[in-house]
Amino acid sequence: MEEKHRRRLLEIAVGDVRFDRPMRLYTSLRVGGVAAALVRAGSLEVLRDVCVYAAAHTIPRIVVGKGSNLLVSDRGFPGVVIRLRGALAEVRWEEEGELNAGGGATNRRILDHCSREGIGGLEFLSGIPGTAGGAVATNAGARGRDTGEVLRRVELLTAEGTVDTLPSGELRFSYRSCSLPEGAVVTRAVFHVRREAPEAVTKRIARNLSERRRKQPLRFPSAGSVFRNPPEEPAWRLVERAGLRGKRIGGAQISPLHANFIVNSGGARAEDILSLMNLARDEVLRLTGIELEPEIRTVGFQNKR
Ligand SMILES: Cc1cc2nc3c(=O)[nH]c(=O)nc-3n(C[C@H](O)[C@H](O)[C@H](O)COP(=O)(O)OP(=O)(O)OC[C@H]3O[C@@H](n4cnc5c(N)ncnc54)[C@H](O)[C@@H]3O)c2cc1C
Repeated sequence: MEEKHRRRLLEIAVGDVRFDRPMRLYTSLRVGGVAAALVRAGSLEVLRDVCVYAAAHTIPRIVVGKGSNLLVSDRGFPGVVIRLRGALAEVRWEEEGELNAGGGATNRRILDHCSREGIGGLEFLSGIPGTAGGAVATNAGARGRDTGEVLRRVELLTAEGTVDTLPSGELRFSYRSCSLPEGAVVTRAVFHVRREAPEAVTKRIARNLSERRRKQPLRFPSAGSVFRNPPEEPAWRLVERAGLRGKRIGGAQISPLHANFIVNSGGARAEDILSLMNLARDEVLRLTGIELEPEIRTVGFQNKR
């Protein structure tokens, strides 16, 4: 990144800019090369100024939550990676039936709040390691429920630099995706919730977490489910039928516990993970004629084959 851009970013986000940061530090798979700049935006003004500056100088930018659905290439990302913090990561109970979370609020923080205050309705997010913004963008879900169902409205910073509030009815949600306007950043999400006894909420969260610990390979870094479940058969079963459970390439492995997880079993490179994904797709297609679609999102790859 040119020196003048670095200087300007330092002026916009005083104390909150770092350069040449390895993305493995910001993604749950713990892989990924260097991001040219990493900005932690603690207010709408800083976020807007960074986005507007990047757009005006055609510097690529992405927003990253916990990086728990991302595979960043070994070459890294040549632009600005933005994370939300401070006022953009707060959780508040504002009026009856609504929980207001900053786009950068982690699901864990939201659920701690719910558990303490006795707020029910979002327990399905327990164990999904992301942020409110990431949950909206990916329509995160589990146990037959998803974010689109519980979202009332979102506040967005649009690609043009304006702040808009959209009722959830104006967004289209489908399996692990949401039709956010191109380039929009979710700065706030308002969820529909209900008052409940704190013990009941805490108990449901604990039950969900313990079920995940039993079924998912949580000892190793991963990005959760790698492929969407096709209508014909769950992705894990297709990968298993292709004989790939436990298959390794470099430091990456198709989890022996859950064949739709690829784990970083130590020292994996993004290339190893991508190669395993391609192998699984090719083998499943050859064997069954079914084309697996990735659920995890890729960043910074020129060629995904
Ligand atoms: C162990 C494990 C288990 C998982 N289980 C589940 C599960 O049960 N169900 C499920 O749905 N997912 C699951 N996931 C995947 C992941 O946790 C979710 O997709 C999560 O919602 C991603 O949130 P994030 O904040 O980490 O987003 P990131 O991974 O950081 O980003 C994902 C996408 O969202 C965009 N994004 C992030 N924040 C914003 C924002 N503020 N505004 C606009 N766009 C934004 C990013 O640009 C990117 O395109 C799992 C992952 C792991 C590692």
